[in-house]
Amino acid sequence: METPSRVSEMYTELFSGIGKDASSEIDAIFDENYTDPVVLHRLRFHSICEHHLLPFFGLADLVYVPNGKIAGISKFIRCLDVLSRRPQVQERLTSQWADAVSDKLAPRVVAVRLQAEHLCMSIRGVEKPGTLMTTMAFRGDLGSNGMRKEELLRLLAG
Ligand SMILES: [Zn+2]
Repeated sequence: METPSRVSEMYTELFSGIGKDASSEIDAIFDENYTDPVVLHRLRFHSICEHHLLPFFGLADLVYVPNGKIAGISKFIRCLDVLSRRPQVQERLTSQWADAVSDKLAPRVVAVRLQAEHLCMSIRGVEKPGTLMTTMAFRGDLGSNGMRKEELLRLLAG
């Protein structure tokens, strides 16, 4: 009897990020003269694949090199949460997260990596549980004056 309303409430929660500006979650910004990398590892996240409406979930990593501005670390997680709570594809989620950080902090460099298992691949279709998909996004100065991609990849990997 209660299932329709329960499911409706569940989707309201899972899709509560629709129409929200995720970058506005990064709202605790401080001026700080710190110009070395900041690394966040192993943030757990979950989202819903927009093709099958099944979850994908895993771990996210972020590296940024500030350019005069830092943000409270929980803000990066809240930002990813808003982006995750809408029908997504992992590639877009990855780009949107990097873009939000880039827009708010204008860091020298930001790099993010998401690794996730997709239930639409684990429990149906090719049925390959445990397969991880990795996506990455890089923004900022990756040229000779900035950080090399190899360096960022090493930091992302921990
Ligand atoms: Zn899918």
